Amino acid sequence: MISKQEVVIHIEKLYKHYPMGKQVVPVLRGLDLTIYKNEYVALMGPSGSGKSTLMNIIGCLDTPTAGQYILNGIQVSSINDDDLATIRNKEIGFVFQQFNLLPRLSALDNVALPLVYAGISKKEREERAKEVLAKVNLADRWHHKPNELSGGQCQRVAIARALINNPAIILADEPTGNLDSKTSIEIMDIFTQINESGNTVILVTHEEDIAAKAKRIIRLRDGLVEMSEDRLQLAEHANTSMQTAVNNNQFEESNIQIESKETDNTPENEPLF
Ligand code: ADP
Ligand code: MG
Repeated sequence: MISKQEVVIHIEKLYKHYPMGKQVVPVLRGLDLTIYKNEYVALMGPSGSGKSTLMNIIGCLDTPTAGQYILNGIQVSSINDDDLATIRNKEIGFVFQQFNLLPRLSALDNVALPLVYAGISKKEREERAKEVLAKVNLADRWHHKPNELSGGQCQRVAIARALINNPAIILADEPTGNLDSKTSIEIMDIFTQINESGNTVILVTHEEDIAAKAKRIIRLRDGLVEMSEDRLQLAEHANTSMQTAVNNNQFEESNIQIESKETDNTPENEPLF
């Protein structure tokens, strides 16, 4: 089923080493990964397993030491920094744990900033920034500066900024890491909407209940993909099992285990903190 879909990210034997003194630290160790258009992927794994390193390479913020990275048919691993920046601006919207907003600028100006670099007129910048702020339910807060907004509102501004160039792919590295659980749910609802409107979404999280909102969970360990779970298929399987049980009249209160299909795979790689 999935093989008929359009590939947006294809990664083969990806390596990333960081120099440390005279030695190198291997972080990604020959990782393979394919992500399809309009997927919604949660990237999980222990601290230090290489999630941010992988996200930065996928987001064209960093380049691999070796291996192939093809983004929407473009061989990214071998292009120069200028072309990398162009691809990044066109294809990718990045959301970070720390929001990374400019403190002196209003929400509107933060969101519109990527358009300044794209040479778009002030009027159009403001119109488009207001549109995306409305998408994240912040239409009434456009004139506020980051220190006049809550953490959740700041993250929504950052999401709006990521959306302003209409990128095909939204990457978010622990976007709810600094937020309380209620606010995290609101932010996750926004990512769900973004995915439903056609974007490919990849987000890093430590939390199983946040990851449960995604359609696929990819678990990294020691710089390799340890496991990929298609949550839709798990859910379909659970539904089919339930329907079969109902049809066969096997459904007793004592053996309701539908939920356990999704929680069976409790990883041993829980976050370290
Ligand atoms: P994660 O996001 O899964 O916690 P990271 O990708 O941030 O992991 O880091 C993986 C490993 O790479 C860690 O051991 C980290 O110390 C190391 N690392 C990350 N960035 C750098 C860097 N710029 N220089 C040296 N080592 C780094
Ligand atoms: Mg990280």
